[in-house]
Amino acid sequence: MTAKFLKVSCRDCSHETVIFSRATTSIVCGVCGSLLTNPAGGNAQLVGCNVVETLE
Ligand SMILES: [Zn+2]
Repeated sequence: MTAKFLKVSCRDCSHETVIFSRATTSIVCGVCGSLLTNPAGGNAQLVGCNVVETLE
């Protein structure tokens, strides 16, 4: 399974940011501070954002 970068949009403020699909730490929105992902089983679990685009 290859790791990817994902462009995601915050559900609360629509700010777009790029995250690593296998992020091992929680990631929060740089604008509003909402939790975007939780680390889960080697892959980031999206909790507060929607995927806009998958980047190769
Ligand atoms: Zn936000």
